Amino acid sequence: MSCLFCKIIKGEIPCKKIYEDDQIFAFHDINPQAPVHVLIISKKHISGIPQLVIDDDALIGKIMRTAHKIAQQLNVADQGYRVVVNSGRNAGQEVFHIHFHLLGGRSMNWPPG
Ligand code: 5GP
Ligand code: ZN
Repeated sequence: MSCLFCKIIKGEIPCKKIYEDDQIFAFHDINPQAPVHVLIISKKHISGIPQLVIDDDALIGKIMRTAHKIAQQLNVADQGYRVVVNSGRNAGQEVFHIHFHLLGGRSMNWPPG
């Protein structure tokens, strides 16, 4: 499979890893949009939100709790942070392996651009 994030999980492409367990992998984004910009991904290849199935429900909940733990570790939890999943063309999804952007360390606008 030629998926970029599957290659990162396998160590075939280097990354700055900050968390890993049996289901989840997290690493710093190569092009950070905030002082903290971490990508949290499932080890299972899921292309995006439309491809989620009922068996993934617990995994997605675990990813959210992991996002908060990482935000605490990186000292952005108290001031607040954003978790974003881009889905499809209008949202600007570029990598079709589901990933949760954890953004923190600065104030953010709403609505997003
Ligand atoms: P998307 O636009 O699909 O929601 O987000 C893809 C993200 O992956 C972007 O923020 C981009 O900077 C990041 N990214 C793309 N290629 C790499 C890479 O090789 N390494 C890392 N660490 N991040 C990447
Ligand atoms: Zn993949």
